[in-house]
Amino acid sequence: MNKAPKIGLVSLGCPKALVDSERILTTLRAQGYSFSPDYQGADMVIVNTCGFIDSAKAESLEAIGEAISENGKVVVTGCLGVEEDLIRKTHPKVLAVSGPHQYEQVVEAVHETLPPLHDPYVDLVPPEGLKLTPRHYSYLKISEGCSNRCSFCIIPSIRGDLVSRPMAGVLYEAERLVKSGSKELLVISQDTSAYGQDIKYATSKFRGRDVRAKFYDMCAELGELDAWIRLHYVYPYPHVDGAIELMAEGKILPYLDIPFQHASPKVLKSMRRPANQEKTLDTILNWRKTCPDLAIRSTFIVGFPGETEADFNQLLDWVSEAGIERAGCFPYEPVTGAKANELDGAVPEEIKQERFERLMERAQHVSADRLKQKVGKTIEVLVDDVEEEENLAIARSIWDAPEVDGNVIIDHASGIKPGDKLSVKVHDSDAYDLFAIREAPQ
Ligand code: SF4
Repeated sequence: MNKAPKIGLVSLGCPKALVDSERILTTLRAQGYSFSPDYQGADMVIVNTCGFIDSAKAESLEAIGEAISENGKVVVTGCLGVEEDLIRKTHPKVLAVSGPHQYEQVVEAVHETLPPLHDPYVDLVPPEGLKLTPRHYSYLKISEGCSNRCSFCIIPSIRGDLVSRPMAGVLYEAERLVKSGSKELLVISQDTSAYGQDIKYATSKFRGRDVRAKFYDMCAELGELDAWIRLHYVYPYPHVDGAIELMAEGKILPYLDIPFQHASPKVLKSMRRPANQEKTLDTILNWRKTCPDLAIRSTFIVGFPGETEADFNQLLDWVSEAGIERAGCFPYEPVTGAKANELDGAVPEEIKQERFERLMERAQHVSADRLKQKVGKTIEVLVDDVEEEENLAIARSIWDAPEVDGNVIIDHASGIKPGDKLSVKVHDSDAYDLFAIREAPQ
């Protein structure tokens, strides 16, 4: 049996740095690493540095030098990590440098030099982590929290402002998921297009090169993986245009989930929604020119306080004009603690319900029209489920996210398994689903 790799740790600085060291050790231990109390017994060494005052910096640099001469394989993290140039100039042999609280990057740097040993007979956790989704698709969370302040939402007060993960951590996770069988990655967060703003688009090291925590860069990097990449919770900011080009080139799926919530400028203002909504329709029409295959999913709230019949009609027309082919709708409900509770103009329940039904009917027409255009075409699908008794496979196209969108129902499904990617020919459609038959192999 292979021996678990041994890690040495030098922890300098204050109690906060000590807690960081403990987290790093806990993560590595859970992944099967063991530890060495001395340099000689370690396969590599992590130095958690302090950069508070000059004497602490000098002590940290000295500790790095000692670890390099005694062991040779050294990863540096902690407060002095923000001065990467100084560290690399003084000690060019360090393998990786990260700043304080960047546990993920430290652990990834260790993985790069000493991959964890996975023992399927003993490990409680598989290499891709514990998943609640089927093996063939996975959610990839790129940040926590949200810096917007929509008046109907209390997420920022529960989860705080946006905190983006370093790009390298996201990419290593994505790579691991694909390696362990995920054929589709669904990028999620509260505001995917804001990715990296909070960390000033910081770079991190992924396989020895610098990668930026920026929305476009993330899409381009993920687009190099052998998997469908689907973007959720994107806002129509100008910088999203670059991602539409990647969709047109077939690098990421031509699918955007944008929670528009409404189309009336007045309602959007009282919802305090981000982005310039007046230009949104033009933006969408331009996107469709660049990528005619684009499918847009969105959610809408009807019956928001102050919404008039005219506001609602504006929304109905907008859904048709923008061609929102995947629409979800919720009658407005107050949430304890939300600012919107203070607004006047509550809409009676029966009107909310009536508007909900009208919007869903409109959305259904848009969806049915779009799906009709796919009849006769050959499309690629990913199979989620097989119903053996009925000899049907339930699959999704590039325009369908799991759980929320429609399906592609495949007849004569013998031999088809969940997780298969297939070419199918569409022979029929209804309001939300396509019906298809497997293409004969060439
Ligand atoms: S609705 Fe979304 S964007 Fe608005 S505050 Fe809540 S989480 Fe942020």
